[in-house]
Amino acid sequence: MEQLRKDLHRTRFIHTLSHIESYIKYGKENDLSNVQFLSYVMRNEANNREQSAINRRLKNSKFPSVKTFDGFDYKYQHSITKRMVNEWRDFNWIDTRENKILMGPPGVGKTHIALALGYEAIQHGYNVKFYTFNDLLDDMLIATHEEGIKLFIKKLCKNDLVIIDEIGYLPIKEINSSMFFKLVSELYEFRSVVITSNKLFQEWGSAFGDDAITTAILDRLLHHSELITMDGDSYRMKGKL
Ligand code: ADP
Ligand code: MG
Repeated sequence: MEQLRKDLHRTRFIHTLSHIESYIKYGKENDLSNVQFLSYVMRNEANNREQSAINRRLKNSKFPSVKTFDGFDYKYQHSITKRMVNEWRDFNWIDTRENKILMGPPGVGKTHIALALGYEAIQHGYNVKFYTFNDLLDDMLIATHEEGIKLFIKKLCKNDLVIIDEIGYLPIKEINSSMFFKLVSELYEFRSVVITSNKLFQEWGSAFGDDAITTAILDRLLHHSELITMDGDSYRMKGKL
C-alpha cells in the first residue's frame, strides 16, 4: 500500500490517491476482475480530472452568474427557438471563429443567452472569458502603454470565446473607441466573440463617438457573424404587466 501511494503521488493520480481505500473495498465487494477494477479506477480518475478542468475554466471565465438553456423560458422569448440552440450546441461556430451578436431591448434575455452559450462551451472543453464592455475598457486602460495593451490582447486571445456584454449602453471616449478597435481587429480573425447590445447598429456611432471607427469596428465584427435579434417584453417585468 505504501509503495502504491507513492506511485499514485508520483504519477499525479491525486484523486485515486485520496479514494484508493474505498475503491479497493468496492472492488472486493463487487468481485471485480483485474480489468474491471483497473477500468473502474481509471474512469473515476478521468471523470474527476475532467470535472476539475471544467471548474477551473468556469472560474477563469469570470461569469457574473451561471445561466443555462435548461433554465430558459422559450415560451416567454419567441425569438430564440430550441432548434437554434441545438444548432449552436455543436460549437462548430467556435471552431470556425464565427461571432454571435445578440440584439434587443433590456431584459429580453440577451445576457442570459450569452452566458448559457459560454457555460456550455466550457462543458465542451473551450476556454471562455466574460467581460462587460465597460469592464473590458477599464482593464484595457490600466494597460495604457503600447506593450501593456499588446500583452492584454494576447492574454485575451488565449480564450476560444470572448463574451462582450452591453456594448453601446453608454457613450465612450475617443481613446477607448480606438483601443476597442485595436482589440476587435486582433480578436476577430482568431477567436469567436459573442456580443450583446441594446442599440441598433445605426446607433453605435453615437456610442463610439466616431463614425469612421464605428464602421471599421462593425465591418470586422459583422464578418462571419450570426445576428440574433430578440424582442418582446422584459423578463424582469414578467407577471407585472
Ligand atoms: P438582457 O441582457 O437582455 O437585458 P437578461 O439576460 O439580463 O436581459 O435577463 C434579465 C433576467 O431575466 C435575468 O435574470 C435572466 O436570467 C432572466 N431571463 C430573461 N429572459 C428569460 C427567459 N426567456 N427565460 C428565463 N429567464 C429569463
Ligand atoms: Mg444584459
